[in-house]
Amino acid sequence: MQTFKTRTSLSAAINSHKRSGSTVGFVPTMGALHDGHISLLQQAKKENTLVVCSIFVNPSQFTNQQDLQRYPRTLEADMLKLEEAGCDLLYAPEERDVYPEGSEKAPKFEFGGLEDKLEGAARPGHFAGVAQVVSIFLDIVRPDKLYLGQKDYQQVIILSKLLQYLQLNTEIIVCPIVREVNGLAMSSRNERLSPEGRQRAGSIYRSLQYALSLLDILPVEEVETCCYNALNSFENFEADYVEVLDAKNLEEIQENTDRIVIVTAVIVDGVRLLDNITAERKMQL
Ligand code: AMP
Repeated sequence: MQTFKTRTSLSAAINSHKRSGSTVGFVPTMGALHDGHISLLQQAKKENTLVVCSIFVNPSQFTNQQDLQRYPRTLEADMLKLEEAGCDLLYAPEERDVYPEGSEKAPKFEFGGLEDKLEGAARPGHFAGVAQVVSIFLDIVRPDKLYLGQKDYQQVIILSKLLQYLQLNTEIIVCPIVREVNGLAMSSRNERLSPEGRQRAGSIYRSLQYALSLLDILPVEEVETCCYNALNSFENFEADYVEVLDAKNLEEIQENTDRIVIVTAVIVDGVRLLDNITAERKMQL
């Protein structure tokens, strides 16, 4: 694996691979890699001849400075994992290489209000920051395929819209959520949970599965309330939202919705955890 700190050296290397016919899969991350991240890389490896990964803790997507400062940075361990998983090129830049004139001067995007709901309501400006950094990376890497985790469902929808705005031919590949043994979606934030909290947090996924089963017999609003109340009944759980939405755009379910997603954010031991589950739509409106 070759590691690059600057966009010029990275794009020179990518271009030379492209000239010899490589197809490029790109996996953007913020590091502190776990098996969820690695699953994206493995998928990219199967489908491309060149796999590029980035590790960059993007300041412009953090609303809280304390969160930014305490975000885990484990570059050496991450590099070993990437090497082992067969990553070809790693881009691990400093902030000034990504934002030479500061992030305030970098492009800004809006998504018709989607950026302000769910995670966007809890973290104003978060998705503008995500779209900003990914637009810069896409411009450098120009990948054939962009690998994203279903775990950050709203991010997937936001970035699909970004690709439409930018009129890029890049295809988004959404990879399934990798979970711990108890069902908890893997996340670098899980490290901040107490051992008991981490064990109890497996109930988030079980609650989503329960909600899914209720959709056969109850209206959507009642399912949302039941699941919300169930989550809040666990010790030290504080559910922020549970919503049953159209999986293709995160809007309310319509007559023509054929796939649904149940999204949730739950604060456990003070740590914000995200999860979701998708299914074919069976229920009536
Ligand atoms: P992050 O480093 O948190 O920005 O995540 C980088 C990518 O890894 C994003 O596309 C995430 O959705 C994805 N990801 C994070 N956790 C998981 C997981 N448990 N399973 C699958 N993909 C994940």
